[in-house]
Amino acid sequence: EQYEQWNAVDSYLSDTLGLADPALEAALKASDAAGLPQIAVSAPHGRLLHLLARIQGARRILEIGTLGGYSAICLARALPEDGRLLTLEFDPRHAEVARGNIAAAGLADKVEVRVGAALDTLPLLQQEGASPFDLAFIDADKANNPAYVRWALELSRPGTLIVVDNVIRDGKVADLTSEDPAIKGTQETLALIAAEPRLTGTAVQTVGSKGYDGFALAVVTG
Ligand code: SAM
Repeated sequence: EQYEQWNAVDSYLSDTLGLADPALEAALKASDAAGLPQIAVSAPHGRLLHLLARIQGARRILEIGTLGGYSAICLARALPEDGRLLTLEFDPRHAEVARGNIAAAGLADKVEVRVGAALDTLPLLQQEGASPFDLAFIDADKANNPAYVRWALELSRPGTLIVVDNVIRDGKVADLTSEDPAIKGTQETLALIAAEPRLTGTAVQTVGSKGYDGFALAVVTG
């Protein structure tokens, strides 16, 4: 019943704020039709990512976990003409659907989807001498989040913003006895953000159409 209300409020916010535009709706439809799991960020969260990229003045964005490209579209729309988003996806089927959705949204020139396990593709990025990213959005396999935050830091500059999704998970994050690798990964990630002198961060609890969850934000300070 509580969830019904969160869902209704997310719908209300989407409608009232005009967040559910045709390209994003089409991306969700195509993702559903291809059988992708319904785990993209919600429309209000997608707009939040878009705003963070705008506030950040991001020209280069890294995303880990593409799925059908919903959040990639939200982020890439914040880029200037010469801006680029690189998004890493393990599942070739997801990547293919995402490429279609990104092209349909008119963003094919700005977005590159790379297929592979992110822990394999991230070192390649570094070898290529990729210039630092202004924003990193981490939303893939949660057990690897500590490694992803370390990589985001490696590929950052002072001022880079790192966003980590799904850090609350119905409150399970506060269960220190949890053996769930996703929860342990999240707990380690938060501890890393706290311990790493080059990061200043926080985490925020949220409710909505995706349930009770939240995200962490950290800025690279040095
Ligand atoms: N960011 C997307 C959005 O909001 O539209 C949702 C991403 S979904 C929660 C997580 C994605 O990460 C899935 O598509 C999954 O296949 C991908 N993934 C899982 N393990 C991965 C890995 N090791 N490397 C890269 N991607 C991975």
